[in-house]
Amino acid sequence: MINSENILNSIQLEEAIEKFVHQFCVEKHDIHSQKVTWYTSEGQIEKIKQIGISKDGRPVDEVISEMSKEVYQYRGDANHPRFFGFVPGPASSVSWLGDIMTSAYNIHAGGSKLAPMVNCIEQEVLHWLCEQVGFTENPGGVFVSGGSMANITALTAARDCKLNDENLHLGVAYVSEQTHSSVAKGLRIIGIPNSRIRKVETNSSFQMDMKMLKEMIAKDKENGLIPFVVIGTAGTTNTGSIDPLEEIAKICLDNEMWFHIDGAYGASVLLSPQYKHLLKGTELADSISWDAHKWLFQTYGCAMVLVKDIKHLFNSFHVNPEYLKDIEGDMEHINTWDIGMELTRPARGLKLWLTLQVLGTRLIGSAIEHGFQLAEWAQEALEELEHWEIVSKAQLAMLNFRYITNDLTDDQIDLLNEKVSEKIVESGYAAVFTTILNGKKVLRICALHPETTRDDIRTTIHLLDTYARELHEEMKH
Ligand SMILES: *Cc1c(COP(=O)(O)O)cnc(C)c1O
Repeated sequence: MINSENILNSIQLEEAIEKFVHQFCVEKHDIHSQKVTWYTSEGQIEKIKQIGISKDGRPVDEVISEMSKEVYQYRGDANHPRFFGFVPGPASSVSWLGDIMTSAYNIHAGGSKLAPMVNCIEQEVLHWLCEQVGFTENPGGVFVSGGSMANITALTAARDCKLNDENLHLGVAYVSEQTHSSVAKGLRIIGIPNSRIRKVETNSSFQMDMKMLKEMIAKDKENGLIPFVVIGTAGTTNTGSIDPLEEIAKICLDNEMWFHIDGAYGASVLLSPQYKHLLKGTELADSISWDAHKWLFQTYGCAMVLVKDIKHLFNSFHVNPEYLKDIEGDMEHINTWDIGMELTRPARGLKLWLTLQVLGTRLIGSAIEHGFQLAEWAQEALEELEHWEIVSKAQLAMLNFRYITNDLTDDQIDLLNEKVSEKIVESGYAAVFTTILNGKKVLRICALHPETTRDDIRTTIHLLDTYARELHEEMKH
């Protein structure tokens, strides 16, 4: 006989939560002075594997403290104010609290009748976001787990709007050399193979070249193919560059193509009064992806796909199985399983609602603007030093740069910059990684954390400079 109480409620809930929250908050409190940890060791992985899965259960206290000590410590902390790698995820504690509330109630957020108010709140947030984008007529969207899922959701709608079963094999999609890899991945999944994904070259500012885009579309049409979608990026992951959105929109209109914007990184700039003009043209797109777990300070698993006309998502994802008949939705009371890939889903939008309510859009806007400032401070600090080349100037909280010198070969310079990154990561002071631009290895800073200071930035740059000089001396001999 099982004791059901033990299965569903086997712990002293309040006590366990209180203890965990306390410990977490203490740790979080002085994160600024802590190292940016970035290590796992072979030994540690062995240790975890040896724990095994318990047959008879263990006290919750014991397991929590084991996880705190042996698991969470070993991470690249993308929440840290001096984590400048990839795209950091500086999550607000309000979002974290929202996560706790959402999982506490464990609401099935797929259907509007199952959770009408939750659904209503999510729709309110989505419609407000659509307004920021400039989608006004019959807009809508759905919360998804990330930018990759947002992209594939929008691309599916693009495919179903512009192609059919007979001509799917002729459809061509256009991305740039700087488009995020998730786009090509999504295209392949929906039936557009690499051979029909055109990579348009970028100009010296890493924006899609419009002349080449037009030429490629014309040529494909001549060859009997069907250009059906252009993916422009608002804030590329490498440099923060923004494609010429208005020009792409015009080209799409002229060729009856779908215009999707990957704003996973940069769409949050729409919430900055000072910089939203940079994204002019979003209102002309058919769809846009927007990650909230990047520059909107949400914990992971929160992104949006927004469309100019919600019926396109409905057309692609609408299902009508017999076991859902009782709670069938309509366009007024939309079930998210009718406009996206998931059936059962958590209410990902609630924590964003909580964050917007508690912090307010003014504060969030200035937190986003702080990122712009951080990258500018980094550029300023580099310009005061010798041997540093700015490869892509500060924009949208990003900066790309590298140490250069006449007395080393190109390969040696690449290696030097790579080692500079390794050294600063090893030091634990900051995390700065490399990327490749124009065939050269460059250092890259992406700085989104609202608590990062000018001093953090300047010290990071000076550390990079010290390491670069040391390595330069070593490599000369
Ligand atoms: C991060 C990013 C993605 C992928 O988003 P995930 O949330 O990691 O799935 C897509 N496009 C761009 C431009 C990005 O920066």
